Amino acid sequence: MPTDDCLFCKIVAGEIPADVVHETETTVAFRDIEPQAPTHVLVIPRSHRANAAELAETEPSVLVDLVESAKAVADKDGLDEGYRMVFNTGAQAHQTVFHVHLHLLGGRPMGWPPG
Ligand code: AMP
Ligand code: ZN
Repeated sequence: MPTDDCLFCKIVAGEIPADVVHETETTVAFRDIEPQAPTHVLVIPRSHRANAAELAETEPSVLVDLVESAKAVADKDGLDEGYRMVFNTGAQAHQTVFHVHLHLLGGRPMGWPPG
């Protein structure tokens, strides 16, 4: 997909507003518009990659940066009891935006297995 058509590239570029909670040289973290938990933050790379595997292949250090940013947000939000990090990958797994994003969820008990 051309990055011109990508919602999350537009958030990175500041063309669409987002509730940004953390930024680094390589990542941007913002609150999900439809939160599924008291903390529901999406952490994305500034570069357009379709999914976590593609990011691992092309920029492995940025995959680490996503996890470190998620941890920083979890600390800021006081998620001492635990939190979940999720990469939905592919349509059957409910990936709807094809710019890789780490879902950070926390602030309530969570069941397993996920739906
Ligand atoms: P996924 O289904 O894993 O691809 O997740 C996409 C997520 O992006 C969903 O949780 C949406 O609620 C969220 N989302 C869509 N548009 C926006 C937006 N403009 N700002 C913040 N979150 C969004
Ligand atoms: Zn993108």
